[in-house]
Amino acid sequence: MTNKFGSRGSYEIIRRLEEAGHEAVFVGGAVRDYLLGKPAKDIDIATSAEPDEVKAVFSNTVDVGVDHGTVLVIVWGEPIEVTTYRTEGLYTDHRRPDEVEFVKSLKEDLLRRDFTMNALALTKDGELIDLFGGRSDMKKRIIRAVGNPTDRFREDSLRMIRAVRFSSVLDFDIEENTLEAIQDNANRISHVSIERLKIEMDKLFMGVNPVKAFTYLENSRLGTAIPLYSNRIEELERSVPFRNAVEGWAFFSVVGKFQPSEIARVYKLSNDERKFISSVHEAFEKRVKGQFSIDEYYIFDLAVLFCTEKLFRSVYVNSPTLMDSELEKRKKSLPIQTAQDLAIDGKDLIEWAGIAGGQWTGKWIKKIEHAVLHTLCENNPTKIKDWFMHDFKRET
Ligand code: ATP
Ligand code: MG
Repeated sequence: MTNKFGSRGSYEIIRRLEEAGHEAVFVGGAVRDYLLGKPAKDIDIATSAEPDEVKAVFSNTVDVGVDHGTVLVIVWGEPIEVTTYRTEGLYTDHRRPDEVEFVKSLKEDLLRRDFTMNALALTKDGELIDLFGGRSDMKKRIIRAVGNPTDRFREDSLRMIRAVRFSSVLDFDIEENTLEAIQDNANRISHVSIERLKIEMDKLFMGVNPVKAFTYLENSRLGTAIPLYSNRIEELERSVPFRNAVEGWAFFSVVGKFQPSEIARVYKLSNDERKFISSVHEAFEKRVKGQFSIDEYYIFDLAVLFCTEKLFRSVYVNSPTLMDSELEKRKKSLPIQTAQDLAIDGKDLIEWAGIAGGQWTGKWIKKIEHAVLHTLCENNPTKIKDWFMHDFKRET
Protein backbone atom coordinates (compact mmCIF):
# COMPACT_ATOMS: atom_id res chain seq x y z
CA MET A 1 0.00 0.00 0.00
CA THR A 2 2.71 2.43 1.01
CA ASN A 3 4.32 2.52 -2.40
CA LYS A 4 1.19 3.41 -4.25
CA PHE A 5 -0.54 5.97 -2.05
CA GLY A 6 0.48 9.59 -1.74
CA SER A 7 3.67 11.30 -2.69
CA ARG A 8 7.22 11.37 -1.33
CA GLY A 9 6.63 14.76 0.30
CA SER A 10 3.51 13.61 2.12
CA TYR A 11 5.36 10.63 3.67
CA GLU A 12 8.16 12.93 4.71
CA ILE A 13 5.66 15.23 6.46
CA ILE A 14 4.17 12.36 8.44
CA ARG A 15 7.63 10.99 9.26
CA ARG A 16 8.79 14.33 10.62
CA LEU A 17 5.62 14.94 12.64
CA GLU A 18 5.97 11.49 14.19
CA GLU A 19 9.63 12.10 14.89
CA ALA A 20 8.59 15.23 16.81
CA GLY A 21 6.27 13.06 18.94
CA HIS A 22 2.96 13.74 17.18
CA GLU A 23 0.47 11.49 15.43
CA ALA A 24 -0.20 12.03 11.76
CA VAL A 25 -2.25 10.12 9.17
CA PHE A 26 -3.67 10.48 5.70
CA VAL A 27 -7.40 11.28 5.72
CA GLY A 28 -10.36 12.25 3.58
CA GLY A 29 -11.08 11.99 -0.11
CA ALA A 30 -7.59 10.94 -1.13
CA VAL A 31 -7.78 7.79 1.03
CA ARG A 32 -11.23 7.02 -0.34
CA ASP A 33 -10.13 7.52 -3.93
CA TYR A 34 -7.01 5.43 -3.38
CA LEU A 35 -9.12 2.49 -2.16
CA LEU A 36 -11.25 2.91 -5.26
CA GLY A 37 -8.15 2.76 -7.41
CA LYS A 38 -8.57 6.34 -8.56
CA PRO A 39 -5.66 8.73 -8.92
CA ALA A 40 -5.20 10.83 -5.79
CA LYS A 41 -5.97 14.53 -6.04
CA ASP A 42 -5.33 16.73 -3.04
CA ILE A 43 -3.79 14.76 -0.19
CA ASP A 44 -4.86 15.76 3.32
CA ILE A 45 -2.96 14.91 6.47
CA ALA A 46 -4.54 15.04 9.93
CA THR A 47 -2.36 15.38 13.01
CA SER A 48 -2.53 15.58 16.77
CA ALA A 49 -0.12 18.54 16.60
CA GLU A 50 -1.64 22.01 16.91
CA PRO A 51 -0.92 24.54 14.15
CA ASP A 52 1.96 26.15 16.09
CA GLU A 53 3.49 22.76 16.69
CA VAL A 54 3.17 21.90 13.00
CA LYS A 55 4.87 25.16 12.08
CA ALA A 56 7.68 24.42 14.52
CA VAL A 57 8.49 21.19 12.68
CA PHE A 58 8.73 22.61 9.16
CA SER A 59 10.65 25.56 7.79
CA ASN A 60 8.30 26.29 4.92
CA THR A 61 4.63 26.71 5.88
CA VAL A 62 1.73 28.95 4.91
CA ASP A 63 -1.16 29.86 7.22
CA VAL A 64 -4.12 28.94 5.06
CA GLY A 65 -6.72 28.36 7.77
CA VAL A 66 -4.99 28.30 11.11
CA ASP A 67 -8.20 29.12 13.00
CA HIS A 68 -9.64 25.90 11.66
CA GLY A 69 -6.39 24.08 12.24
CA THR A 70 -5.04 23.98 8.70
CA VAL A 71 -1.44 24.75 7.82
CA LEU A 72 -0.05 24.33 4.34
CA VAL A 73 3.29 22.57 4.62
CA ILE A 74 5.71 22.69 1.72
CA VAL A 75 8.23 19.90 1.59
CA TRP A 76 10.45 19.31 -1.43
CA GLY A 77 8.42 21.88 -3.31
CA GLU A 78 5.19 20.02 -2.69
CA PRO A 79 2.38 21.83 -0.81
CA ILE A 80 0.22 19.63 1.44
CA GLU A 81 -2.54 20.62 3.85
CA VAL A 82 -1.97 19.48 7.40
CA THR A 83 -4.98 19.87 9.71
CA THR A 84 -5.08 19.43 13.47
CA TYR A 85 -7.52 16.81 14.80
CA ARG A 86 -10.61 18.77 15.64
CA THR A 87 -14.25 18.63 16.51
CA GLU A 88 -16.73 21.22 15.45
CA GLY A 89 -18.88 23.38 17.66
CA LEU A 90 -22.35 24.71 16.95
CA TYR A 91 -23.50 25.37 13.41
CA THR A 92 -25.76 28.37 13.83
CA ASP A 93 -25.65 29.12 10.11
CA HIS A 94 -26.24 25.46 9.11
CA ARG A 95 -22.98 25.56 7.27
CA ARG A 96 -19.74 26.53 9.03
CA PRO A 97 -19.19 25.63 12.62
CA ASP A 98 -19.03 28.69 14.85
CA GLU A 99 -15.83 27.38 16.31
CA VAL A 100 -13.61 24.35 16.13
CA GLU A 101 -11.95 22.69 19.03
CA PHE A 102 -8.62 20.97 18.66
CA VAL A 103 -8.59 17.47 20.10
CA LYS A 104 -5.96 14.83 20.66
CA SER A 105 -7.80 11.78 19.38
CA LEU A 106 -8.12 10.78 15.76
CA LYS A 107 -11.45 9.15 16.54
CA GLU A 108 -13.02 12.48 17.48
CA ASP A 109 -11.72 13.99 14.28
CA LEU A 110 -13.13 11.16 12.17
CA LEU A 111 -16.49 11.46 13.91
CA ARG A 112 -17.03 14.95 12.54
CA ARG A 113 -16.57 13.80 8.94
CA ASP A 114 -19.62 13.46 6.71
CA PHE A 115 -19.71 9.95 5.29
CA THR A 116 -18.18 6.66 6.35
CA MET A 117 -16.14 6.50 3.12
CA ASN A 118 -14.73 9.95 3.95
CA ALA A 119 -13.94 9.05 7.55
CA LEU A 120 -11.14 6.61 6.78
CA ALA A 121 -7.55 7.22 7.75
CA LEU A 122 -4.39 5.60 6.49
CA THR A 123 -1.12 5.44 8.39
CA LYS A 124 2.17 5.91 6.61
CA ASP A 125 2.75 2.17 6.96
CA GLY A 126 -0.40 1.44 5.00
CA GLU A 127 -2.65 0.48 7.89
CA LEU A 128 -6.27 1.48 7.30
CA ILE A 129 -8.11 2.99 10.27
CA ASP A 130 -11.77 2.32 9.68
CA LEU A 131 -13.88 3.09 12.74
CA PHE A 132 -17.32 3.34 11.10
CA GLY A 133 -17.35 0.57 8.52
CA GLY A 134 -16.33 2.82 5.65
CA ARG A 135 -14.51 0.05 3.80
CA SER A 136 -17.51 -2.24 3.93
CA ASP A 137 -19.84 0.56 2.79
CA MET A 138 -17.51 1.28 -0.08
CA LYS A 139 -17.52 -2.37 -1.08
CA LYS A 140 -21.33 -2.19 -1.06
CA ARG A 141 -21.07 1.09 -2.95
CA ILE A 142 -23.04 2.93 -0.30
CA ILE A 143 -22.92 6.51 0.94
CA ARG A 144 -23.72 6.49 4.63
CA ALA A 145 -23.60 9.38 7.09
CA VAL A 146 -21.31 9.03 10.06
CA GLY A 147 -23.55 8.90 13.15
CA ASN A 148 -27.14 10.13 13.11
CA PRO A 149 -27.85 11.42 9.60
CA THR A 150 -30.52 13.91 10.66
CA ASP A 151 -28.17 15.49 13.18
CA ARG A 152 -25.38 15.58 10.64
CA PHE A 153 -27.51 17.27 7.97
CA ARG A 154 -28.91 19.73 10.49
CA GLU A 155 -25.38 20.66 11.48
CA ASP A 156 -24.38 21.27 7.91
CA SER A 157 -26.82 21.29 4.97
CA LEU A 158 -24.02 21.12 2.42
CA ARG A 159 -23.60 17.44 3.29
CA MET A 160 -26.95 16.67 1.64
CA ILE A 161 -25.86 17.88 -1.76
CA ARG A 162 -22.42 16.33 -1.22
CA ALA A 163 -24.17 12.97 -0.78
CA VAL A 164 -26.01 13.46 -4.07
CA ARG A 165 -22.87 14.67 -5.83
CA PHE A 166 -20.95 11.57 -4.67
CA SER A 167 -23.77 9.37 -6.02
CA SER A 168 -22.91 10.76 -9.45
CA VAL A 169 -19.14 10.89 -9.08
CA LEU A 170 -18.76 7.40 -7.60
CA ASP A 171 -21.96 5.83 -8.92
CA PHE A 172 -22.80 4.82 -5.32
CA ASP A 173 -26.24 4.58 -3.73
CA ILE A 174 -27.29 6.65 -0.76
CA GLU A 175 -28.04 4.43 2.24
CA GLU A 176 -31.72 4.34 3.22
CA ASN A 177 -31.61 6.20 6.54
CA THR A 178 -29.23 8.75 5.10
CA LEU A 179 -31.61 9.32 2.18
CA GLU A 180 -34.59 9.59 4.51
CA ALA A 181 -32.79 12.23 6.53
CA ILE A 182 -32.13 14.18 3.33
CA GLN A 183 -35.82 13.95 2.47
CA ASP A 184 -36.75 15.28 5.90
CA ASN A 185 -34.32 18.15 5.70
CA ALA A 186 -34.35 18.96 1.99
CA ASN A 187 -35.67 22.50 2.39
CA ARG A 188 -32.60 23.32 4.48
CA ILE A 189 -30.51 23.22 1.32
CA SER A 190 -31.42 26.91 1.05
CA HIS A 191 -28.86 27.55 3.79
CA VAL A 192 -26.06 26.51 1.45
CA SER A 193 -24.42 29.40 -0.38
CA ILE A 194 -24.94 29.47 -4.10
CA GLU A 195 -21.17 29.33 -4.65
CA ARG A 196 -20.95 26.02 -2.79
CA LEU A 197 -24.02 24.68 -4.55
CA LYS A 198 -22.49 25.61 -7.91
CA ILE A 199 -19.28 23.73 -7.09
CA GLU A 200 -21.25 20.64 -6.08
CA MET A 201 -23.40 20.82 -9.22
CA ASP A 202 -20.27 21.14 -11.37
CA LYS A 203 -18.91 17.96 -9.81
CA LEU A 204 -22.29 16.26 -10.17
CA PHE A 205 -22.41 17.09 -13.91
CA MET A 206 -18.93 15.68 -14.39
CA GLY A 207 -19.58 12.50 -12.44
CA VAL A 208 -20.04 9.12 -14.09
CA ASN A 209 -23.75 8.96 -13.26
CA PRO A 210 -25.54 12.33 -13.23
CA VAL A 211 -28.80 10.49 -13.93
CA LYS A 212 -28.54 8.74 -10.57
CA ALA A 213 -27.92 12.06 -8.86
CA PHE A 214 -30.88 13.72 -10.59
CA THR A 215 -33.04 10.79 -9.53
CA TYR A 216 -31.92 11.41 -5.94
CA LEU A 217 -32.59 15.12 -6.29
CA GLU A 218 -36.10 14.16 -7.26
CA ASN A 219 -36.67 11.42 -4.65
CA SER A 220 -35.19 13.42 -1.85
CA ARG A 221 -37.13 16.58 -2.70
CA LEU A 222 -33.82 18.42 -2.79
CA GLY A 223 -34.70 19.18 -6.41
CA THR A 224 -37.62 21.38 -5.45
CA ALA A 225 -35.41 23.35 -3.10
CA ILE A 226 -32.61 23.91 -5.62
CA PRO A 227 -32.91 27.11 -7.67
CA LEU A 228 -33.92 26.73 -11.32
CA TYR A 229 -33.84 22.97 -11.17
CA SER A 230 -36.21 21.03 -13.34
CA ASN A 231 -36.47 17.31 -13.27
CA ARG A 232 -35.85 16.13 -16.80
CA ILE A 233 -34.39 12.71 -16.25
CA GLU A 234 -35.20 11.31 -19.68
CA GLU A 235 -33.57 14.19 -21.48
CA LEU A 236 -30.63 13.93 -19.10
CA GLU A 237 -30.20 10.26 -19.93
CA ARG A 238 -29.86 11.25 -23.57
CA SER A 239 -27.53 14.18 -22.82
CA VAL A 240 -24.86 12.52 -20.70
CA PRO A 241 -21.95 12.22 -20.51
CA PHE A 242 -21.29 15.94 -20.44
CA ARG A 243 -18.01 17.01 -21.96
CA ASN A 244 -17.54 19.58 -19.24
CA ALA A 245 -19.58 21.06 -16.42
CA VAL A 246 -20.76 24.01 -18.48
CA GLU A 247 -22.64 21.62 -20.76
CA GLY A 248 -24.59 20.73 -17.61
CA TRP A 249 -25.52 24.39 -17.15
CA ALA A 250 -26.55 24.59 -20.81
CA PHE A 251 -28.77 21.58 -20.13
CA PHE A 252 -30.27 23.42 -17.16
CA SER A 253 -31.05 26.37 -19.36
CA VAL A 254 -32.19 24.75 -22.60
CA VAL A 255 -33.99 21.67 -21.31
CA GLY A 256 -35.18 23.30 -18.11
CA LYS A 257 -36.36 26.28 -20.18
CA PHE A 258 -34.74 28.95 -18.06
CA GLN A 259 -33.18 32.04 -19.59
CA PRO A 260 -29.39 31.72 -19.69
CA SER A 261 -29.09 35.17 -18.11
CA GLU A 262 -31.16 33.97 -15.17
CA ILE A 263 -29.08 30.82 -14.67
CA ALA A 264 -25.92 32.90 -14.95
CA ARG A 265 -27.14 35.44 -12.42
CA VAL A 266 -28.47 32.97 -9.87
CA TYR A 267 -25.49 30.58 -10.03
CA LYS A 268 -22.95 33.37 -10.50
CA LEU A 269 -21.50 31.76 -13.59
CA SER A 270 -18.24 33.09 -14.98
CA ASN A 271 -18.30 35.23 -18.14
CA ASP A 272 -17.10 32.30 -20.23
CA GLU A 273 -19.77 30.04 -18.80
CA ARG A 274 -22.47 32.65 -19.36
CA LYS A 275 -21.34 33.19 -22.96
CA PHE A 276 -21.35 29.48 -23.65
CA ILE A 277 -24.84 28.82 -22.33
CA SER A 278 -26.19 31.92 -24.09
CA SER A 279 -24.73 30.72 -27.38
CA VAL A 280 -26.17 27.25 -26.91
CA HIS A 281 -29.53 28.77 -26.09
CA GLU A 282 -29.41 30.90 -29.23
CA ALA A 283 -28.17 28.04 -31.41
CA PHE A 284 -30.86 25.75 -30.00
CA GLU A 285 -33.61 28.17 -31.00
CA LYS A 286 -32.25 28.16 -34.56
CA ARG A 287 -31.77 24.41 -34.57
CA VAL A 288 -35.41 23.84 -33.64
CA LYS A 289 -36.34 25.52 -36.93
CA GLY A 290 -34.07 23.31 -39.05
CA GLN A 291 -30.51 22.15 -39.68
CA PHE A 292 -27.78 24.69 -38.95
CA SER A 293 -27.25 27.11 -41.81
CA ILE A 294 -23.86 28.10 -43.22
CA ASP A 295 -23.97 31.28 -41.14
CA GLU A 296 -24.68 29.30 -37.99
CA TYR A 297 -21.83 26.88 -38.66
CA TYR A 298 -19.68 29.95 -39.07
CA ILE A 299 -20.83 31.92 -36.03
CA PHE A 300 -20.95 29.16 -33.43
CA ASP A 301 -17.92 27.40 -32.01
CA LEU A 302 -17.68 23.67 -32.47
CA ALA A 303 -18.23 23.20 -28.72
CA VAL A 304 -21.49 25.14 -28.98
CA LEU A 305 -22.60 23.15 -32.04
CA PHE A 306 -21.82 19.82 -30.36
CA CYS A 307 -23.68 20.75 -27.19
CA THR A 308 -26.67 22.21 -29.04
CA GLU A 309 -27.07 19.20 -31.33
CA LYS A 310 -26.86 16.89 -28.34
CA LEU A 311 -29.52 18.80 -26.43
CA PHE A 312 -31.66 18.98 -29.56
CA ARG A 313 -31.36 15.20 -29.91
CA SER A 314 -32.33 14.69 -26.30
CA VAL A 315 -35.46 16.84 -26.59
CA TYR A 316 -36.59 15.96 -30.14
CA VAL A 317 -35.98 12.26 -30.02
CA ASN A 318 -37.47 11.46 -33.40
CA SER A 319 -35.83 14.19 -35.43
CA PRO A 320 -32.86 13.29 -37.58
CA THR A 321 -29.68 14.65 -36.05
CA LEU A 322 -26.03 14.85 -36.97
CA MET A 323 -23.08 13.10 -35.35
CA ASP A 324 -20.30 15.24 -33.90
CA SER A 325 -17.98 14.13 -36.69
CA GLU A 326 -20.45 15.38 -39.30
CA LEU A 327 -20.88 18.73 -37.53
CA GLU A 328 -17.13 19.07 -37.40
CA LYS A 329 -16.74 18.15 -41.04
CA ARG A 330 -19.33 20.72 -42.07
CA LYS A 331 -17.80 23.47 -39.98
CA LYS A 332 -14.27 22.69 -41.16
CA SER A 333 -15.37 22.67 -44.80
CA LEU A 334 -16.46 26.32 -44.66
CA PRO A 335 -14.23 28.44 -46.93
CA ILE A 336 -13.14 30.46 -43.91
CA GLN A 337 -13.40 29.97 -40.15
CA THR A 338 -13.05 33.63 -39.15
CA ALA A 339 -12.59 37.00 -40.88
CA GLN A 340 -8.87 36.63 -40.19
CA ASP A 341 -8.80 33.84 -42.76
CA LEU A 342 -9.75 36.23 -45.56
CA ALA A 343 -6.99 36.59 -48.16
CA ILE A 344 -7.26 40.38 -47.94
CA ASP A 345 -7.66 43.01 -45.26
CA GLY A 346 -8.77 46.63 -44.87
CA LYS A 347 -5.47 47.99 -46.22
CA ASP A 348 -6.03 46.19 -49.51
CA LEU A 349 -9.49 47.72 -49.83
CA ILE A 350 -8.10 51.23 -49.23
CA GLU A 351 -5.44 50.69 -51.85
CA TRP A 352 -7.90 49.33 -54.42
CA ALA A 353 -10.52 52.01 -53.79
CA GLY A 354 -7.92 54.79 -53.69
CA ILE A 355 -9.72 56.60 -50.91
CA ALA A 356 -8.97 57.08 -47.23
CA GLY A 357 -10.04 54.39 -44.78
CA GLY A 358 -13.17 54.84 -42.69
CA GLN A 359 -16.29 53.06 -41.63
CA TRP A 360 -16.76 51.84 -45.17
CA THR A 361 -13.82 49.42 -44.88
CA GLY A 362 -15.40 47.47 -42.01
CA LYS A 363 -18.71 47.36 -43.87
CA TRP A 364 -17.02 45.98 -47.01
CA ILE A 365 -14.97 43.46 -45.08
CA LYS A 366 -18.29 42.12 -43.76
CA LYS A 367 -19.69 41.94 -47.30
CA ILE A 368 -16.60 40.13 -48.55
CA GLU A 369 -16.70 37.79 -45.58
CA HIS A 370 -20.29 36.94 -46.47
CA ALA A 371 -19.49 36.47 -50.16
CA VAL A 372 -16.53 34.19 -49.45
CA LEU A 373 -18.44 32.22 -46.83
CA HIS A 374 -21.29 31.61 -49.26
CA THR A 375 -18.86 30.82 -52.11
CA LEU A 376 -20.01 33.78 -54.19
CA CYS A 377 -16.37 34.71 -54.39
CA GLU A 378 -13.19 32.63 -54.02
CA ASN A 379 -10.91 33.43 -51.13
CA ASN A 380 -7.92 34.72 -53.08
CA PRO A 381 -6.75 38.32 -53.50
CA THR A 382 -7.33 38.54 -57.27
CA LYS A 383 -10.85 37.12 -57.13
CA ILE A 384 -11.76 39.25 -54.15
CA LYS A 385 -10.38 42.35 -55.85
CA ASP A 386 -12.48 41.70 -59.00
CA TRP A 387 -15.56 41.06 -56.91
CA PHE A 388 -14.96 44.11 -54.77
CA MET A 389 -14.17 46.54 -57.63
CA HIS A 390 -17.25 45.44 -59.50
CA ASP A 391 -19.68 45.91 -56.61
CA PHE A 392 -17.88 48.85 -55.04
CA LYS A 393 -18.07 50.89 -58.26
CA ARG A 394 -21.73 50.05 -58.60
CA GLU A 395 -22.49 51.28 -55.12
CA THR A 396 -20.45 54.48 -55.19
P1 ATP B 1 -13.31 15.66 -3.47
O1 ATP B 1 -12.89 14.41 -4.13
O2 ATP B 1 -14.36 16.39 -4.22
O3 ATP B 1 -12.20 16.56 -3.02
P2 ATP B 1 -13.54 15.19 -0.65
O4 ATP B 1 -14.33 14.18 0.13
O5 ATP B 1 -12.07 15.05 -0.60
O6 ATP B 1 -14.07 15.14 -2.13
P3 ATP B 1 -13.11 17.81 0.42
O7 ATP B 1 -13.99 18.99 0.39
O8 ATP B 1 -11.78 17.82 -0.22
O9 ATP B 1 -13.98 16.61 -0.19
O10 ATP B 1 -12.99 17.40 1.96
C1 ATP B 1 -12.00 16.54 2.47
C2 ATP B 1 -12.58 15.74 3.63
O11 ATP B 1 -13.08 16.61 4.64
C3 ATP B 1 -13.77 14.85 3.27
O12 ATP B 1 -13.38 13.62 2.72
C4 ATP B 1 -14.47 14.71 4.60
O13 ATP B 1 -13.79 13.79 5.43
C5 ATP B 1 -14.28 16.08 5.20
N1 ATP B 1 -15.39 17.00 4.85
C6 ATP B 1 -15.47 17.85 3.79
N2 ATP B 1 -16.61 18.54 3.80
C7 ATP B 1 -17.28 18.13 4.89
C8 ATP B 1 -18.54 18.48 5.46
N3 ATP B 1 -19.31 19.39 4.89
N4 ATP B 1 -18.89 17.84 6.59
C9 ATP B 1 -18.11 16.92 7.19
N5 ATP B 1 -16.92 16.55 6.70
C10 ATP B 1 -16.51 17.13 5.57
MG1 MG C 1 -10.68 16.47 -1.50
